[in-house]
Parts: sequence; structure tokens; C-alpha cells
Amino acid sequence: MNLLLVEDHADLAANVGEFLESRGHQIDYAADGLSGLHLAAVNAYDAIILDLGLPGLDGLTLCRRLREDARNPVPILMLTARGTERDKLAGFEVGADDYLTKPFSSPELLARLQALIRRASGFGTARVLQVADLTLNLDTLVVRRGEHRLELTPSALRLLQHLMAASPRVLGRSEVERILWGDDPPDSDAALRAHIHALRQVVDRDYALKLIHTVHGVGYRLAQDDTL
Ligand code: CA
Repeated sequence: MNLLLVEDHADLAANVGEFLESRGHQIDYAADGLSGLHLAAVNAYDAIILDLGLPGLDGLTLCRRLREDARNPVPILMLTARGTERDKLAGFEVGADDYLTKPFSSPELLARLQALIRRASGFGTARVLQVADLTLNLDTLVVRRGEHRLELTPSALRLLQHLMAASPRVLGRSEVERILWGDDPPDSDAALRAHIHALRQVVDRDYALKLIHTVHGVGYRLAQDDTL
């Protein structure tokens, strides 16, 4: 993989870089946001590892400028300090694809990068969305957990597809409402909760690993972990 690491903490950058290079990957470094933005603009990377707290241009701003100004779809994994839930949510809002909380292990970083790149390159070819043991084949619309086939109503299927495509990002309540009802959502949110409940009954009820998570006051996300 050809990677860009934007991180102002020199020791951390060196450790991560040495590990990734030892596994055969190419790393470019930037120690501040503006250098990172410049490198991201002039080179084609498979993924960018982006620290949130950077001198000059911070990680959120860098991410937003890549997505909104440069229309750059490169997978971005954001590094955040411990326990800053707001930072993680803000990261997803500006277009980060995944996050990792410091301190993290280099092998986990590598695994997440590989998953991000697989997902990014899978669009339009594999036509299968997968999160943990949950799969949705976009051609046949067959949904499975492991070997078990799940039966969903058309609206539940549509909601699941959006949650899986966004994973691990949070879908805000208004986004979920738009998916279910377009521009004409019902007045009360009881209907929304009923839809989520029905989806959980099919996707999660019989399985130890729960995939659909409520982010209170924000919305819903589908992911293997519920640590957000
Ligand atoms: Ca930093």
C-alpha cells in the first residue's frame, strides 16, 4: 500500500512508519496539516492516516478540505486522543472513514487500513456489503449472517443497505428518516424507532454479536464494535 501518515508526534510517527514499512508498505510523512494537505493533493495514496490534533491545519479541517474542496475520495483513518467522543463524531461528519483511539497497536492499524482499502476498491466490483458476519449481496439482495439467510421487508432492506454502506459511520436520525420516507417523514419519532426495532429483531436478536448501535441524540450506526 502507498500511505500518507500525517502526525506531528515524531516518536509515534516513527513507530507506525517502521512497522508499516517492515510489512512492505510505502509511507510518506507529514508533521503538520498543510504539508499533509499538499502531499495528499499531489500524490495518489491508497489511504491516509490522519492525526486529529496537528499544528497549523488540524485534522478535521484537512479532512474537510480534501473531501469538499478537492473532492478526494481517498480512504481516511483518523487518529484520536482517548475518550473524545465528540472528536470521533466530528471526524465522521467531515468524511473520515474510520478512527482509531490512541494508544493503538500497529497490527490493528494495518488491519483497519486493509479493510478500508478493500471496502473502497470493492464498490462497483464485488457488489457485496459486509460487516462482521453480516453480508448483503447488492445484486441478489440476499442478506445473511454467517450461513443463515435473513428475511427483511423492502424498507428494512433499504435501511440496512444504507447502514452497511456507511459503516462504521453514524447515520443521523434525519438521514434515516430520509431513507425511509423521503422528504415526508412522520411527525413523531415512534415510527422511526419501530423500524429500527424491527431491523434489530432480524439482524441482531438471535446473535451474541450485536451490530446495530444507538448513538443517543445523534442516530444509529452498524458496526462490529460499540465503543464510539
Ligand atoms: Ca497530534
